[in-house]
Amino acid sequence: MDNLPDPGPEKCIFCQIAANKSPAEVEYSDQNVVGFWDIHAHAPVHILIIPRKHISSIEDVKEEDWPIVSQMFKAAREIAHKKNLHNNGYRLVVNYGINAGAMVDHLHLHLLGGKNLGPIA
Ligand code: AMP
Ligand code: ZN
Repeated sequence: MDNLPDPGPEKCIFCQIAANKSPAEVEYSDQNVVGFWDIHAHAPVHILIIPRKHISSIEDVKEEDWPIVSQMFKAAREIAHKKNLHNNGYRLVVNYGINAGAMVDHLHLHLLGGKNLGPIA
């Protein structure tokens, strides 16, 4: 998107978190998906859900990867319930590209909740 080369899994911070090689406050972990707290939380609960597989962005999801995307949403809902967010609501966000201010080139789903989040933009 920004024409910079994808650093690839070796230099990807989220791959390192998934592999336990970089610290994170992990909230959820299974065979294909990891959920951990965002270091710059925008809400009382702000957790990032990622595939263990290095998928650079939503635009890079291959046909065979869609089940993993589904698993990310499933994990997000499970975490939302665990954090008791489902009564008052929560938000799931995927950023892509410049207009969305996407920063990390590893697909991630933001789970936000624990306060009134206001309108989306
Ligand atoms: P995005 O704009 O969707 O690419 O958001 C990337 C998010 O990753 C931001 O909210 C960052 O605060 C968060 N982030 C970046 N590095 C880390 C890290 N090492 N651990 C946890 N969250 C991170
Ligand atoms: Zn990665």
